[in-house]
Amino acid sequence: MDQELLINMKFYSTNNKSLRVSLQEAVLKGLADDGGLFMPERIPQLPADLFTSLASASAGALESQSAELAFAVAEAFLGEDISAAKLQRIVSETIDFPIPLVKVKEGVYSLELFHGPTLAFKDVGARFMARMLTHFREKEEQDITVLVATSGDTGSAVANGFLGVKGMKVVILYPSGKVSEIQEKQLTTLGQNITALEIKGTFDDCQRLVKQAFSDRELTQQITLTSANSINVARLIPQIFYYLIAYAQVLEKNLPVVICVPSGNFGNLTAGLIAKRMGLPVEKFIAATNTNDIVPNYLSTGNFSPKSSVQTISNAMDVGNPSNFVRMLDLYANDVHVMRQDITGYHFTDDETRQTMKAVYENHGYLLDPHGAVGFAALDNYLTKNKATGIFLETAHPVKFLDVVEETVGKKIEIPERLAACMSKPKKALLMENSYAALKAFLFKNS
Ligand SMILES: *Cc1c(COP(=O)(O)O)cnc(C)c1O
Repeated sequence: MDQELLINMKFYSTNNKSLRVSLQEAVLKGLADDGGLFMPERIPQLPADLFTSLASASAGALESQSAELAFAVAEAFLGEDISAAKLQRIVSETIDFPIPLVKVKEGVYSLELFHGPTLAFKDVGARFMARMLTHFREKEEQDITVLVATSGDTGSAVANGFLGVKGMKVVILYPSGKVSEIQEKQLTTLGQNITALEIKGTFDDCQRLVKQAFSDRELTQQITLTSANSINVARLIPQIFYYLIAYAQVLEKNLPVVICVPSGNFGNLTAGLIAKRMGLPVEKFIAATNTNDIVPNYLSTGNFSPKSSVQTISNAMDVGNPSNFVRMLDLYANDVHVMRQDITGYHFTDDETRQTMKAVYENHGYLLDPHGAVGFAALDNYLTKNKATGIFLETAHPVKFLDVVEETVGKKIEIPERLAACMSKPKKALLMENSYAALKAFLFKNS
């Protein structure tokens, strides 16, 4: 193609399609100036022979196959801004762990997304985003400080994603005494460029302190701060990878393939919808939630009514106003009828989730975490009425929800080695008052 005609992919705001920014700006900003979420201006098509050419690869080649598929997606969106060699490196550093599709019972498969360092799917997005941020800051002299407030999981995925990444410092704020022991160990034993601040307050206090830092001109003029938040396009795009990786591992392609996504903020599902638009032959997506059923409710009534979130045992999905819903609306031009052709919604109570965990363990010997259990239950329901091959995303390792899982299935769970290793390390955190002055003084000293 004529070089002159190559126009780099731009990203628009869901609030205003004519507000377009470069990839670099979208990644560094996270959120558009008008408060919208960024979307790619075009959805590239996958090469028609992508999967047939893969099918000839040998059975043991899952990891090279995965890297190849991930690269195809990354290049389609980002290849005009980042060289192929650099993208290859970012992709292979991001998924340096397996993403296997495991058979649970006839026609039902679990896509195990928990083999990364923090045992949850957010590792994929966080690791990719960390590398994208470094890529775009290479020309700059100053270090970037990533400031995150966490109630548990997101913080460790982000921190791990940035661990040892040059030019990046990560400061995590977490509420003292309000995260689980495993979560605290994951946050406080990393060392290197990661500092954990144990705030004498709640998660809301931590979030407020972070917000205050971002709006403090005196601070931001001297320190480059970034939020590395979950709505960044650099987290959305890598989540497309594993839908292709899942599909490539399905052997019975005589039946339509459906994919069920246990959801909270709906970033994961949005990535799947984009994969379908790229040409991935998925017949249907299933949106599975706990009692925070805002999106299933929208799909059945056409009304979007955000609420305060309700606490459940699948707590990473306790979201009352899903942030990526605006991206879903954007993809379907605000038309619930069209959205329904691609997505079916289900929601389950904690009791139903526990029953599913217990039944699946007893009948099939497969241990689900509470999030995966919501996904399994929704898929199972769907498959009683529809003939398809079903995949659900197992978004976290059951050990991350040790108490609930052990109590429900009545069995001790073995702690994986990579987690046991961090459990035996000493906690290193800076105990801090719930005070903005204290945080600011720390940030100045730390930079
Ligand atoms: C974040 C999370 C989810 C929900 O993902 P969204 O993209 O917010 O819908 C589901 N399961 C686990 C374990 C998570 O950490």
